[in-house]
Amino acid sequence: MKPKGVLLVLSGPSGAGKGTICHKLREKRNDLSYSVSATTRSPRKGEVDGKDYFFITIDRFKEMIANDEMLEYAEIYGNYYGTPKPYVMNILDQGKDVVLEIDPQGALQIKKHFPDAIFVFIVPPSLDELTKRIYNRGTDSEEVIKRRLSAATSELEYASKYDYIIVNDEVEKATNKVSNIIDAERNRAVRTFFIVNEICQNGTCEE
Ligand code: 5GP
Repeated sequence: MKPKGVLLVLSGPSGAGKGTICHKLREKRNDLSYSVSATTRSPRKGEVDGKDYFFITIDRFKEMIANDEMLEYAEIYGNYYGTPKPYVMNILDQGKDVVLEIDPQGALQIKKHFPDAIFVFIVPPSLDELTKRIYNRGTDSEEVIKRRLSAATSELEYASKYDYIIVNDEVEKATNKVSNIIDAERNRAVRTFFIVNEICQNGTCEE
């Protein structure tokens, strides 16, 4: 028997660097799966459909909600974002770990349905740094940047609902911390107690 997979939810305000951490985590570990979200927002320069997001119409998004094809969804900055259900359920059914990079509204929906999921909140080292990162990204209009900045401070208030808070002052360090959390959570007794039963019944356990 295999331990149950870890469902890891990663959130944090725009500019906290959760996308970069996810990217680094991908480079470091090929034992994790990453859910590609669906969104109704337009692709930014360089974003690829099916890799960064599934870029879909509002009608299609609503159809997916109606067909119960979304694990969770939220309206953020005037666009819809959601996690397609079949991919995540399939990975978890195989006992594999999956990472969702979603906002706190979505994270709270996941918490209701998956009490064993792990919630990690990424924060910037300072508000100045957050502002700098959002501006430096250079992908959004002035209006969108302003909206993201004001949303960022209210989003920080959700942090207390998460299991872990990681300060992203250095991407490498923050990524290692997230990676270590996944390893530790894999060994949590709720996921691995069956190993003790195997040892008691068979005298040994399969790795
Ligand atoms: P962006 O437009 O910068 O790519 O993402 C904006 C926000 O949407 C980020 O906070 C990101 O985490 C969130 N987001 C991305 N995908 C999903 C999703 O599938 N569900 C939810 N609830 N939020 C998402």
